[in-house]
Amino acid sequence: MNVSAPPLVRFRQVGKTYDGVTPVVEALDLDIHEGEFLSLLGPSGSGKTTCLMMLAGFESPSTGEIWLGDTLLNTTPPHRRDIGMVFQNYALFPHMTVAQNVGYALTVRRVGKAEKAAAVARALDMVRMREFADRLPKSLSGGQQQRVALARALVFNPRLVLMDEPLGALDKRLREHMQIELKDLHRTLGITFVYVTHDQSEALTMSDRVAVFDRGRIQQIDRVHALYETPENGTVANFVGDNNVFVGRLLSLDGDRGEIGLTGGERLTGRVVGSPRVGDAVRACVRPERMTLAGDDASALVPSLNTLRARTAGTLYFGDHVRVRFAVSQQEGGFVKLPLDDAGPAQRPDGDTMTLRFHERHLRIFA
Ligand code: ADP
Ligand code: MG
Repeated sequence: MNVSAPPLVRFRQVGKTYDGVTPVVEALDLDIHEGEFLSLLGPSGSGKTTCLMMLAGFESPSTGEIWLGDTLLNTTPPHRRDIGMVFQNYALFPHMTVAQNVGYALTVRRVGKAEKAAAVARALDMVRMREFADRLPKSLSGGQQQRVALARALVFNPRLVLMDEPLGALDKRLREHMQIELKDLHRTLGITFVYVTHDQSEALTMSDRVAVFDRGRIQQIDRVHALYETPENGTVANFVGDNNVFVGRLLSLDGDRGEIGLTGGERLTGRVVGSPRVGDAVRACVRPERMTLAGDDASALVPSLNTLRARTAGTLYFGDHVRVRFAVSQQEGGFVKLPLDDAGPAQRPDGDTMTLRFHERHLRIFA
């Protein structure tokens, strides 16, 4: 992905309302770079599909502009946009064979017979479905239908491929397999992919960058590592990955280092994000894998290490790690992720007191 080159796609102050009253997308600015794998991630109803449909041309923006290179898309019909689309439910034509489905976009574009056959064969090869060319969609598994839908989107060498929750209907194992295939295909083809999902782990594993949507607005757009490690607000912190949340008030502020007083009286130090002021109600978030447990006899305290008294509230076995749930007075419960070796379940009966420890740089404090 080349971020110094001009973006391939630009959304500029794009707004969308279906009923003329309720905004579904608001003042959206978004740059999509040539060759990147960008995911739009957000809860159901946050406007992801609407954005994709506006980019593909099946919906039009109520306000603002969408550009592909130096073409204004607002006034360009879908089949002139040079964009391939994989819809949420595959949307294969049931009465057409696999080859006819894949060739459809070329038929519409009046491509000659021989050229079309070659392009269809090439697209089916990309998704390893050539030997299924004469089958009807209903005789294929979900994963195979998904591959055909992808071949259909790729067949005309589009500049941009859009995918709307393409793996949503597949079981977990096949979904994870297809995630790797899609990522490999992206790398091989070098085409720009825009991918919609509500699954944060899918977005993190596949994408170069992720745009987190909430209520029609982008909350943060960043490379996956930055999104996970340095969320810019509480919405992103809680939607991307797991977080333990503590509520309280900001007691003091020194640069971006702040101290918070929890509702139950304990004090924690962390990094202040955004612009809460001393005295404001704040939420502090720390990832479960950034916390450790110490026994009651927690030895000499290391400066810049937060400690918090808690009670155990059960242990969950995950095979590759263990989660010890905890309760802190006047706070919502949370959990700590521990390697198997560090947490014999039998050692932690419910209601036991323990000390949670975590470094202040791993605690993010949001307004
Ligand atoms: P997402 O893909 O993030 O789940 P959508 O873009 O599908 O979100 O929907 C955003 C909002 O717009 C939802 O409240 C949804 O009900 C509404 N919406 C989506 N499509 C239409 C439509 N064709 N007509 C009216 N409302 C719609
Ligand atoms: Mg959707």
